[in-house]
Amino acid sequence: MPSFNRATNLEFDSTTSESTEEINISREDAEAAVRTLLLWVGDNPNREGLLDTPSRVVNAYSEFFSGYGTDPAVMLSRTFEEVDGYKDIVLLRDITFQSHCEHHMVPIIGTALVAYLPAKKVVGISKLARVVDAYARRLQTQETMTAQIAKCIENALQPEGVAVIIKAQHQCMTTRGVKKPGVEMITRTFSGAFCDNIDMERRLMELVKA
Ligand SMILES: [Zn+2]
Repeated sequence: MPSFNRATNLEFDSTTSESTEEINISREDAEAAVRTLLLWVGDNPNREGLLDTPSRVVNAYSEFFSGYGTDPAVMLSRTFEEVDGYKDIVLLRDITFQSHCEHHMVPIIGTALVAYLPAKKVVGISKLARVVDAYARRLQTQETMTAQIAKCIENALQPEGVAVIIKAQHQCMTTRGVKKPGVEMITRTFSGAFCDNIDMERRLMELVKA
């Protein structure tokens, strides 16, 4: 059973994003907050159809935001060096993810491409997809998430280069506000050889388009 008493970071050190203070929000507090929103939108939280809604919403939030309970660096801590001299690009694409925008708390749905050029260490490929999820299952901006994934891989594997490309649709733009369905946002972070070496960047882009 997941724990529903979540430690919540009240204050962040902006340089490290580490919490400096923690408080515990109980499940009851979270459900009461949902009931408040139900009242605020003009409905009756006591009618039959809504009675269990606060509990369901809190369960759903536990899933949507499970990334806060994970440490992506730990996911990449098991590395391998025995690759028989393999020295080329390792690339995973079409990694689907669901995130939530930190401004409106509505879904960001998209795919990530993650690539690195190993120096010595490689990592199990499913771990890269887990890192994408660990950052996606938090309140995010697409720009931040792109940079965080790249930084995490860089720190763990110390590769020759890292590339992360994210394509996503933001429901805060498609279903509200400017209401432009179908608009896709693309962000990328390239580092090391994918930045400095034009040939390597070209080879990467060939794989991306393949
Ligand atoms: Zn938004």
